Amino acid sequence: MIKLYAMSRSNSFVILSFILLMALLPASGKAYVTDHVVLVIIDGLRYSEGLGDPSFEQVPRMGALASEGALINDFQNDGATYTSRAIPAIWCGAWTDINTFSDPDCNSSSNNTTELPTVFEYYRKQLSRPAEDCVYTLKALCPWKASLDPDYGTEYWPLYHSVGSTDTDVWHETEQVISDLAPHFLLMYLADVDSRGHSGDWEDYLAAISTADSLVGALWDVLQADTAYAGKTTMLVTNDHGRHDYNFQGHGDDCVGCRHIQLLAIGPDIQSGLASDVPRTIPDIAPTIGELLGFTTEDATGTVMLELLDQTAGTERNVGAMTPSSLSLKRLYPTPFNSELNIEYELMDSHQASISIFNLRGKQVWTSDVLSGGAGRHILKWDGRDQSQRSLPSGIFIVQLSNQSLSQSQKVLLLK
Ligand SMILES: [Zn+2]
Ligand SMILES: [Zn+2]
Repeated sequence: MIKLYAMSRSNSFVILSFILLMALLPASGKAYVTDHVVLVIIDGLRYSEGLGDPSFEQVPRMGALASEGALINDFQNDGATYTSRAIPAIWCGAWTDINTFSDPDCNSSSNNTTELPTVFEYYRKQLSRPAEDCVYTLKALCPWKASLDPDYGTEYWPLYHSVGSTDTDVWHETEQVISDLAPHFLLMYLADVDSRGHSGDWEDYLAAISTADSLVGALWDVLQADTAYAGKTTMLVTNDHGRHDYNFQGHGDDCVGCRHIQLLAIGPDIQSGLASDVPRTIPDIAPTIGELLGFTTEDATGTVMLELLDQTAGTERNVGAMTPSSLSLKRLYPTPFNSELNIEYELMDSHQASISIFNLRGKQVWTSDVLSGGAGRHILKWDGRDQSQRSLPSGIFIVQLSNQSLSQSQKVLLLK
């Protein structure tokens, strides 16, 4: 009897260890189903005409996809709210410097490169993928050149399919690329919503949004009908910036209309029906793509949007740890924890910061303001209770340290 009892104790220990291992699986042993990522950027779509409209009047397809996938309620352009800076921030996972030069390949018109490496370069170099596996579709224009980073650059640049003059042209080209090349990483850039907005014709602007929405829907349908993509593709749909909340014709300042944008995610590793309250920004996109496909974005300042992922998925890499920043979430211990978690952090300036805890449904359960209190490391203790002092059930929680411009997060397991 004693021996049997001991065995069953030991079995439950094995099972418990397995559950812990699954919950806190390191990124190197990632358990994602996703092996293709498709990113769509709809230029200059104001949130109030997009997924921020509860009736989804202009965006019925994306509204329906959001109910199968995940939406971030507070997704922001936290830098420059114009295309030539914000799209590189999506690529680089950071607000990168841009170098402008006269390009002989484009009749000496001006062209640009980023200072930091891009998601294309990280992907191609680290995973040894050919250009045909990393495709960028957009209307005909002079394509940007590769980053100036000495470890990356031209030999890791994506294949550009830059054709046509409308979003519908870009969609037809994208459909062709999907059937001919089936790239594992595909970016489709739709420019018409922004240009129609600038024209000042409201009906024209709304029509461009409806078209972009139907193209996103058609894209998802094609992916689901293609054996190379079905069931193993994650699609992210975002914007570079919105438009002034006081005048839809323009953008470029820090009004809510310009800053508040969309992030829709859908795929086999994305929680279904999630409307996350974890605040996120443009630089978080590239690290999240890296997490899903298995590469690192070492110069990114953004962090992986773990709260969008199913809980059996990998833990966060220490993305951006090499980048000097004004805050740093150092360590959580013990882990798992039962009654008290120590949250060790460092603040390098006196800006107001806060530590918030979110559950895996993206709901904030607890928050506290923290002050720098001088240089060095500090510890905040959390007792596993919500803001109303109710004890929370066992599970994985996301601890996020953030100030106005930066955030870092880590996962922790509360075990009762
Ligand atoms: Zn514009
Ligand atoms: Zn504005």
